[in-house]
Amino acid sequence: LTHYNQYIADENAMIAFGQQLVQAINKLDNNKPVVIYLNGDLGAGKTTLSRGMIQGLGHQGNVKSPTYTLVEEYHLQNKHIYHFDLYRLSDPEELEFMGIRDYFGTDTICLIEWAEKGIGLLAEPDLIVNIRYADNARDIDLIAQNAQGEQIITLLAA
Ligand code: ADP
Ligand code: MG
Repeated sequence: LTHYNQYIADENAMIAFGQQLVQAINKLDNNKPVVIYLNGDLGAGKTTLSRGMIQGLGHQGNVKSPTYTLVEEYHLQNKHIYHFDLYRLSDPEELEFMGIRDYFGTDTICLIEWAEKGIGLLAEPDLIVNIRYADNARDIDLIAQNAQGEQIITLLAA
């Protein structure tokens, strides 16, 4: 499958969807990096979805938005999750100074909000997630960008 659409009634449903998505990723039978670009307006729910994914891997504490730090990291169940928010990135060179390439290693999941700010410096995504407002609810589209993205969607839909 290359596409997946889901109606998300409220914040709790977004968290639950994040948990399902990360469980699908956990079923992949390799340790290649998984790169996901999260698109949507401010307040669409990109960080909320990330929180569901991070907590879905067993993280107990809170999940801060990386708005000011650019990246927050979590090391769980032999996975490294790097959660980026590039909204405030003023110069893409900052990503070079951070050693951005080192973030896309084995056993990693990179969740990237505002990836367009880092264009040309980030790894290509396996999956693009588009979140749209539908009043208080949200509508999510997942679009696979390669074979690994298709595997994730197939596992999610199973
Ligand atoms: P973003 O990271 O895209 O800017 P956040 O996840 O930080 O967005 O914020 C989403 C806000 O919208 C939160 O305050 C959340 O409680 C609220 N919200 C309301 N309905 C939903 C929904 N269906 N899914 C996700 N968030 C929702
Ligand atoms: Mg956010």
